[in-house]
Amino acid sequence: MTTVGILGGGQLARMMALAGAPLGLRFLVLDTVADACAGQFAPMVVGDYTDQDALQEFASRIDVATFDFENVPAESAQWLTARVPVFPNPRALATAQDRLAEKTLFRELGIPVPPFAAIDTREQLQAAVAELGTPCILKTRRLGYDGKGQFRIKSPGDVDAAWDALGAQAAKVGLILEGFVAFQRELSVVAVRGRDGEFRAWPLTENWHVDGVLSASLAPAPVEDALRDTALAHASKLAEALDYVGVFALELFCRDGELLANEMAPRVHNSGHWTIEGSETSQFQNHLRAVLGMPLGDTRMVGHACMLNWIGAMPDADAVLREAGGHWHDYGKSPRAGRKVGHATLRANSRQELAEALRRIGDALERGAQVAPVIERLV
Ligand code: AMP
Repeated sequence: MTTVGILGGGQLARMMALAGAPLGLRFLVLDTVADACAGQFAPMVVGDYTDQDALQEFASRIDVATFDFENVPAESAQWLTARVPVFPNPRALATAQDRLAEKTLFRELGIPVPPFAAIDTREQLQAAVAELGTPCILKTRRLGYDGKGQFRIKSPGDVDAAWDALGAQAAKVGLILEGFVAFQRELSVVAVRGRDGEFRAWPLTENWHVDGVLSASLAPAPVEDALRDTALAHASKLAEALDYVGVFALELFCRDGELLANEMAPRVHNSGHWTIEGSETSQFQNHLRAVLGMPLGDTRMVGHACMLNWIGAMPDADAVLREAGGHWHDYGKSPRAGRKVGHATLRANSRQELAEALRRIGDALERGAQVAPVIERLV
């Protein structure tokens, strides 16, 4: 019997446990809170990610360790590596945790990025804003997610407000200033690399964010083959450079036909949730296959899929459950503003059918604004 240890017990760990059940896998989840939603499907160790006793118990009960949460301290990942196989490796994790390190690597690999500068002081910020121009975005280098830890600088007059908001973070987690990309579309590559180096990617996904949080994903993204090939080549190069094992996502901005890399997530990703029903092998199962050294599953998809995130509270399920291609995911979390509590995936055989299903869901759940940009892309 094989037990997979997962650091972090949120919805990603929960969906991983569900995907691993048919493979006969057992799971153990380490999380800081006892009511983490993966705990509804897997036994847990409750403790801090730096707690030696918790880590010791966790390591003694598992065969391999992986992550649902990328901000596990790199030292804890390193400590575990001495005791059990850990995938992805701590170097990949550390790189992806730091916006400056990852953008520097992208650039070294020839993957285009928005202009950026490391910021330690108010004077550096002043100078960098003058050089990069406005608008631009000041972000924390580490521990930011879903648009948190970011300040948009619209004009040079905003420098003081930006420093007041985030300056205190400079000494703690570091800061990075990025040029604002007036993109037309946001895309992501969700891909997997096996222990033997085999690389597979799912069809490119197009994403829509609201207030920095993913709202909807569409696959396959309606893009030209050349653009898709470039995106996949970037992801493959990145995985190779980091000797990456498991699933990851590369988030890209598309501006005037050019791709610019925003960030990578060293884990299964929200923009890949549609793969559960929309492709031959889900990102969750392929992640497990990769970390366990099993053959990777086919990433081909059948038809078209759209995922809608439910943020804050779950809507009524019936409208989605009535759809032939409707799939409901309730993460078993209590409602809270801004919290990802579930999602729905709609799958259809044609773009037209998918657009019609989205229109029905948008009307029934009063989510017209959420589905509108996806429908516009489909018709
Ligand atoms: P992030 O946390 O870096 O993924 O940012 C969350 C969202 O903010 C992205 O998905 C974009 O919609 C937006 N965003 C982040 N960085 C930039 C940028 N340099 N230019 C334009 N929009 C951005």
